[in-house]
Amino acid sequence: MAMTNELLRYFRAKEKERASETAAATQCPFCSVQCTLQLVEERIVERRRYKAVPTDNPTSNGRLCLKGMNAHQHALHPERLLFPLAKVDGRFVRVSWEEALSLIVERIISIQKEDGVDAFAVYGGGSLTNEEAYLLGKFARVALKTRHIDYNGRFCMSAAAAAMNDAFGLDRGLTNPLSDIPLAQTIILAGTNIAECQPTLMPYFYEAKKNGAFIIVVDPRETKTAALADLHLPLKPGTDAALAVGIGKVLLDEGFIDETFVRERTVGFTEWKQHIEAVKMDEIARVTDVPAEKIRLAARKYGEAADAIVLTARGLEQQADGYAAVRHWMNVVLATGKIGRPGSGFGSITGQGNGQGGREHGQKADQLPGYRSIEHPEHRRYIANIWGISPDELPRKGVSAYEMMQKIGAGEITGLLVMGSNPVVSSPNAAFVAKAMQKLKFLVVADMFLSETAELADLVLPVSSYLEDEGTVTNVEGRVCFRPAARKRPGEVKHDWEILCAIAHKLGKGRFFPFTSAEEIFNELRLASRGGKADYYGVTYERLRRERVYWPCPDAHHPGTPRLFTERFAHPDGKARFAVLPFRPEKEETDEWYPLYLTTGRVLAHYLSGTQTRRSPALSARQPEAVVEIHPRTAKRYGIGPGMLVRIETRRGAAVVRSRYNDQIREDTIFVPFHWSGLGQINNVTSDELDPHCRMPAFKRCAARVRPVVDLGRN
Ligand code: SF4
Repeated sequence: MAMTNELLRYFRAKEKERASETAAATQCPFCSVQCTLQLVEERIVERRRYKAVPTDNPTSNGRLCLKGMNAHQHALHPERLLFPLAKVDGRFVRVSWEEALSLIVERIISIQKEDGVDAFAVYGGGSLTNEEAYLLGKFARVALKTRHIDYNGRFCMSAAAAAMNDAFGLDRGLTNPLSDIPLAQTIILAGTNIAECQPTLMPYFYEAKKNGAFIIVVDPRETKTAALADLHLPLKPGTDAALAVGIGKVLLDEGFIDETFVRERTVGFTEWKQHIEAVKMDEIARVTDVPAEKIRLAARKYGEAADAIVLTARGLEQQADGYAAVRHWMNVVLATGKIGRPGSGFGSITGQGNGQGGREHGQKADQLPGYRSIEHPEHRRYIANIWGISPDELPRKGVSAYEMMQKIGAGEITGLLVMGSNPVVSSPNAAFVAKAMQKLKFLVVADMFLSETAELADLVLPVSSYLEDEGTVTNVEGRVCFRPAARKRPGEVKHDWEILCAIAHKLGKGRFFPFTSAEEIFNELRLASRGGKADYYGVTYERLRRERVYWPCPDAHHPGTPRLFTERFAHPDGKARFAVLPFRPEKEETDEWYPLYLTTGRVLAHYLSGTQTRRSPALSARQPEAVVEIHPRTAKRYGIGPGMLVRIETRRGAAVVRSRYNDQIREDTIFVPFHWSGLGQINNVTSDELDPHCRMPAFKRCAARVRPVVDLGRN
């Protein structure tokens, strides 16, 4: 009898637990796939238990990776900032929002009066929602009137974006829907490690393989993605441009050119042909360190395929000639006519959650919403009209993200607002950036945590997380996705857009920032983008609650545009452009002092500067610290055992990380992920050489040396 009562109590308690369970729809804040999920919260007496349950959408098809499963851990973390903090005598103290906003406005006015309007700059991020990215651009130009705004997406998508605009006349990460991948007979993945960076996309490639696709991976390491490949080309870091030229050379020599496509849909083939004819394959093989036969095999597999897709990412793009590398692959695509139909196209896989939308609506130094140009008179007129100002009041273009840091170092920019970014960890040559930031007269950072950048700030503003902030993002496919708010904001946290509106009101610019919801901002964004290349006019919240819509979508009845360039490219004459770009030797080569190539990248468990994922216990436990992947033979040459602390030195400084043997990496190359700060912060030593076309830093290659750390005090 006693047992029966006990059992009854147990089952009643379980019933109560179940009754107190709630579930809210949301979307992973991390990579560009934007997987959807339900965050289930179980309340058990005092305790809360959370569980992420994947939900269906046409991009991730009900999948969720390790990061998405644990994303809520940072959003619910006890270190979340709940109140504005001002630094007084070197320590942060709690202040009211009224005090914080008054201080910001006083500082903006006084800095702009003393040092000029452009002395106050704005630095945004590729994880902000479309609404916030749009509003940040408007805030800089209308409320501050500064030309200096740029964002961390400069370090992410600038090479591919500039190349796509120049070659195709339009920059959308993928020219085709992801569902085209299984239709391709050959797939080239150049400098993209999808298995770790966008894991839920891998089934598209498994399916392609099941259909008989030949997969080629170009990467100095045999990554988890390369494990899928039929052919792996382990090129020397920084030689992707040469490899793509070599592929083009074989296609030309062996008659794989689609002459009809070239004649009817492109410009510049003759010049490209002349340039390529002069290229020597043995020189390409020497530069890339990939045997000519392997390059020929890759080219033939691509040329023979009826349909094929080329995808690039940061491995190829984050180089001093990243723009050229992308253009050379585009030449390959155009020469063979493999674009604009199911199973044939080109793409650059976006990294950040809103890496696509974040670059379309005006937080880039030279752009206005809808991919309009800030230097184009007609574009200026259109946007000025939407914003209710005169075109003459719109500032001109500013400088790129890293150049802004250089201007801070030079004392030309003396005030800075950082929103949704952590440049002290994510910039190249980051030790310089940290020093430069300390010269600012005023630094205000809006963040969820006391990030490394926020620690240097005079004022820190607490902002909402993905769980609390409603808005839209545009994913890897160019699909606009709606993310509802799943929870109430903690403490005195505000949304980024609310902060911008509040500052603008205090600056006396409130009439330009009357917004009371993200949807109102989106409706203005729709108008501002109307008729532009990234046209969102036909996308509404009402529609997004039902579907994810591909842009361009110019009106409410338009179905959206899954596949681009089926009939014409986006240049006024409808034709794509070949590019002839000479080899550009990297400034930084290896030598007897710095004999190894250092390359950097992501790991599965972490995201960007790690501000969020390092605070997630499950993700941090998976990889708690930075490591250097080093070939065992290289390691032994320098007396480095597995798991030893290693000092990595470049011409800019040193970092210390633990060694991890990897016999699938080139012997002349070491790899370090960039998600950590402190001693293991590899961006303290990466190269700040910038691509002349797009100002992308050369994160992916610099010269380095290694040695074991025996006694930290003596090193
Ligand atoms: Fe999906 Fe990317 Fe989030 Fe993983 S990190 S769950 S792939 S959105």
